[in-house]
Amino acid sequence: MKVAPLCTKCGSKPSVYFRPYSGERLCPGCFAASIRERVERTISRFRMFEFDSRIAVGVSGGKDSLSLLHLLVEIEEQFPKAEVIAVSIDEGVRGYRDEALRLAGEACRSLGVEWRTLSFADLFGLTMDEITGRRGELTPCSYCGVLRRRALNQAARDVEADRLATAHNLDDMAQTALLNLMRGDLRRLAGMHPAGSDLPGFVRRVKPFCEVPERESTLYAYLRGIEFQSRPCPYAETAMRTDIRRFLNRMEVKRPGIKFIIYRAALEIIPRISVGGAEPSGRCRICGEPTRGDVCRVCQLVGELSKEAEGEQPS
Ligand code: SF4
Ligand code: ZN
Repeated sequence: MKVAPLCTKCGSKPSVYFRPYSGERLCPGCFAASIRERVERTISRFRMFEFDSRIAVGVSGGKDSLSLLHLLVEIEEQFPKAEVIAVSIDEGVRGYRDEALRLAGEACRSLGVEWRTLSFADLFGLTMDEITGRRGELTPCSYCGVLRRRALNQAARDVEADRLATAHNLDDMAQTALLNLMRGDLRRLAGMHPAGSDLPGFVRRVKPFCEVPERESTLYAYLRGIEFQSRPCPYAETAMRTDIRRFLNRMEVKRPGIKFIIYRAALEIIPRISVGGAEPSGRCRICGEPTRGDVCRVCQLVGELSKEAEGEQPS
């Protein structure tokens, strides 16, 4: 029987993971420790939290968010004045989100973490299942992204958090960088910085997992015995992001480390982007949330969808 090579960190235990971009072979313990160290380094490098931060963690029930929740709860133990609260958004995707929310709730109970949920139905009067039935030109993920961003901010404000930690991993960051470049959307590119920024009306968003590749986040969850939802959202296939994800995964096999290169290049570019006047300066005349124009994007989308539904009513 073939014996696994020894871990290059501890030199004593058999390795279970080969890290192609660094050449390391790691045993389960050294692998998990390396993820925690990387997340701690990221938090301190970008000064993501204060010693007494009240941190809302966006928990979807997937591997990244549940791994992040476990890690932040552990890290927070060193900071007695800091607090972690889990917030989840129910977008209303039947057969998908309900299972993820069950797993999120169970994880919070076992970790002793306060858990709040908000639903699209309560906030916007529409579920994603209804939106996909009515939608016009946009993909389901375009609607979902705008509405979930609002819902997460609202949930973080409801629990009086001063930080909103989301579990975007390295793959998400590299995909977002390419996606925004391909759309020519420099404002969004500038907004993807993992340290976030302080804007009136918004809880500062931070991304402690931004340097953890997706496959390592998955392995971390498996090795720690974290139960997570692995089934993808039924609407995910329609997104342009899916094409970019596949492309980047193929490139990463050919050229290990390419996702890090794209992510780091984005971090270099972001401070050089001038997005003067792009920050929300006023308030939406419908919902009162911060916006650059007269009516915010959320109210525009919800308004269009509602009109479409009225148009469908028999007269
Ligand atoms: Fe929403 Fe798209 Fe994610 Fe599904 S895949 S939860 S529609 S953003
Ligand atoms: Zn509005």
